[in-house]
Amino acid sequence: MYQLTEDHIMLRNMVRDLAQDKVAPRAAEIDEKAEWPWDIVEALRSADLFGLPFPEQYGGTGTDLLSFIIVIEELCKVCASTGLMIAVQGLGSFPIVIAGNEEQKQRFFPKLASGEHIAAFGLTEPGAGSDAAGTKTRAVRHGDEYLLNGQKNFITHASVASIYTVFASTDPSKGTKGISAFVVESDRPGFKVGKIEHKMGIRASPTGELLFEDCRIPASNLLGKEGEGFKIAMQTLDKSRPGIAAQALGIAQGAIDFAAKYATERIQFGQPISNLQGIQFMLADMETQVAAARELVYKAAVLLQKGDREATKYSAMAKMFASDVAMRVTTDAVQILGGYGYIKEYPVERMMRDAKITQIYEGTNQVQRVVVARAILSKYER
Ligand SMILES: Cc1cc2nc3c(=O)[nH]c(=O)nc-3n(C[C@H](O)[C@H](O)[C@H](O)COP(=O)(O)OP(=O)(O)OC[C@H]3O[C@@H](n4cnc5c(N)ncnc54)[C@H](O)[C@@H]3O)c2cc1C
Repeated sequence: MYQLTEDHIMLRNMVRDLAQDKVAPRAAEIDEKAEWPWDIVEALRSADLFGLPFPEQYGGTGTDLLSFIIVIEELCKVCASTGLMIAVQGLGSFPIVIAGNEEQKQRFFPKLASGEHIAAFGLTEPGAGSDAAGTKTRAVRHGDEYLLNGQKNFITHASVASIYTVFASTDPSKGTKGISAFVVESDRPGFKVGKIEHKMGIRASPTGELLFEDCRIPASNLLGKEGEGFKIAMQTLDKSRPGIAAQALGIAQGAIDFAAKYATERIQFGQPISNLQGIQFMLADMETQVAAARELVYKAAVLLQKGDREATKYSAMAKMFASDVAMRVTTDAVQILGGYGYIKEYPVERMMRDAKITQIYEGTNQVQRVVVARAILSKYER
């Protein structure tokens, strides 16, 4: 079980104030313009929030995974794209946390921890989504270098990152055991960013293609050993999925908070709609679902932190449950606002659009169910 410490609560209060002060006033505008907000990045840098995934000796905060989760949740209550900045600083850096050697940690972490460098995680390809084993991007060793050729798509932070962790096949004959993990810096020759997508939600977060054409990187950018990339990617996703679950939690709680206040102000039939039992019951169901999801998400974070054997299953269950809750709850929040819920003057329509992606990325919820079922059945299969 988890216990929030005084440090967790202080961190949550600090981020709540920052979110209200610096993020909330910009959330609708950056969604509308699909603008990556450097002013908000600066606010997160000043509050040391990019340092959350990193140990203290490399300039990070040295805090636990639960702190990371709490921060994402608070930011996502007002803006899911902003919370995603922190979640993906984790996602893009966890392969180095998991498999990086000392030299690589010293080389990459300080600028990632300060937020000077933004991270991205390049696994998905046009032909390899849920089936990440279908990776076609190739990495061929030539002396002290690797030459990368191929394409990644749907990559969060594609156009703003300085550091990409990229998965490529070094030996296609070995399938998943032939996939390797690399760090690619944005200024490497042969690397460029391709198309940036127009999206339904998380519109302030740039999602796009990474293109590698004879892209040269030093052999010292290989993470772990050749052939360990698929395992590193799966361990990374285990660790980062609670971050997406926290994003879902934050979006859902933000929608409840807004809808509840609105219900006390909206007069129909001569009284606030919050007096109507039909509205009260919806709010009660919404709050209950989010509270249950929060227990699961925080527990998953603690199990991961401990290295518990149930951590993979809990991480998948947390992401799947919290994101399904977020979709239901934000849809109900729109319903509580009636016609006003459907127009852009109110934030709940943005929250409903933002909630959808949490059911899709870092493994769709169908894939999470595959992971959970596999964990249950593996105990009994011979
Ligand atoms: C906005 C956005 C940001 C993203 N950011 C990143 C990122 O930073 N880095 C990155 O690497 N990727 C990223 N992705 C990619 C994302 O993780 C993939 O889109 C996702 O894993 C699904 O892959 P796919 O889109 O190819 O869908 P497909 O794999 O084609 O799936 C299509 C449908 O089939 C279902 N399906 C597939 N396999 C199974 C199965 N075994 N059992 C049951 N149903 C199944 C799926 O659930 C889905 O409903 C992002 C995507 C988006 C849209």
